[in-house]
Amino acid sequence: MSGLICPHCGEKINLFKTGGGEKAADELGVPFLGRIPIEPAIVDSTDQGRPFIRAYGKTPTARLMDEIVGEIIKKVENKDIHQTAGLTQR
Ligand SMILES: [Zn+2]
Repeated sequence: MSGLICPHCGEKINLFKTGGGEKAADELGVPFLGRIPIEPAIVDSTDQGRPFIRAYGKTPTARLMDEIVGEIIKKVENKDIHQTAGLTQR
């Protein structure tokens, strides 16, 4: 999770430091796919048993998730799965 979009003013609040995901991906030899903010609407949708992307598909967070899924699909379709899993790095 990367930051929180303030429900009052829409400003991004970095609750934790930034760059941890990129650093971990680099250390693990796997691609960094993106940042998804802490999203209170995920709690609402999942509590209702509705997938977030379906319930809130037009939100910026859903678009970010969609981009990450698109990157994963691209890598799998390119049979880049060993690199994606970091299996060729060791
Ligand atoms: Zn605010």
